[in-house]
Amino acid sequence: MRAWEVHTPGPVSGSPSPLVAVDRAVPQPGPTELLVRVEACGVCRTDLHVAEGDLDVHLAGVVPGHEIVGTVAQVGSAAGRFAVGDRVGVAWLRHTCGSCRWCRQGRENLCTASRYTGWDADGGYAEFTTVPEAFAYRLPNGVAAEALAPLLCAGIIGYRALMRAQLPPGGRLGIYGFGGSAHLTAQLAIAQGAQVHVFTREQHARDLARRLGASSVQDAYAASPAPLDAAILFAPVGDLVPVALAALGPGGTLAVAGIHLSDVPTLDYQRHLFQERTLTSVTSNTRRDGAEFLALALRLGVRATTRPYPLGRADEALRDLAAGRVCGAAVLLVD
Ligand SMILES: [Zn+2]
Ligand SMILES: [Zn+2]
Repeated sequence: MRAWEVHTPGPVSGSPSPLVAVDRAVPQPGPTELLVRVEACGVCRTDLHVAEGDLDVHLAGVVPGHEIVGTVAQVGSAAGRFAVGDRVGVAWLRHTCGSCRWCRQGRENLCTASRYTGWDADGGYAEFTTVPEAFAYRLPNGVAAEALAPLLCAGIIGYRALMRAQLPPGGRLGIYGFGGSAHLTAQLAIAQGAQVHVFTREQHARDLARRLGASSVQDAYAASPAPLDAAILFAPVGDLVPVALAALGPGGTLAVAGIHLSDVPTLDYQRHLFQERTLTSVTSNTRRDGAEFLALALRLGVRATTRPYPLGRADEALRDLAAGRVCGAAVLLVD
């Protein structure tokens, strides 16, 4: 099968590219796994962190990609949740231990033995991939794979970030950065009655935010038109932490959604934290987050705005993402 591997992590715009096209054997599913024929795989910023070495190498030559929509091609000998031909989604979280204190508390996103698709195990920049059946999501037929794929990480993480940001019903939400995850979270929040204020640099992202119903759209560092009840920082830019904290009203919460963030500058207690403002992070997600979000997104018509690339141009998709040229979410399509 055709696949892409990360060889020597480094800048995706550099030479040689860290992402290398290869021909490799179709993987065999383990007893409790599924073999999935990939229809589409979203391109997530975390793939960029894996390719560029911002995240440590967990598996040499890993195939990136963890927003996978496909159909079950083969079922492991001890697997029984799905049948051949079922449509499934494969996401970032692919293993938790089930017995540590975090797993026992229902906080498996914090499991110390967790493993991730496209980092610890091969992902979806390929024609086939495998997934432990307990970590696969059932997806409906009749929705384009391209529109579904970004829901599987960008959407789920955005949903967890929204929960972590403690937005009150009908409240004012600030969104800093407006890429794949943000544009799905904004749709969900607006559908649920929130007022959404978007802070972003790129003109195409501002246009998209307006089209999706944002109440206001301005530069990433601009003052907020109104005090925010909650904010989510999607841009991996630590300099925006004090900016977003200063935009919060009393009691507001800022959730940092990224897995990687540049250094946070010194905070001023009075301006940034006093009056019970909260700064928190978002770490991965639970399977429950995933199932809740996918059900809501399908019911409320949350759909990704996408830019398709054929599988053979995954390197170009990552370069475009790194350069801020992608509006919405880039998605690889297997032809
Ligand atoms: Zn655990
Ligand atoms: Zn992701």
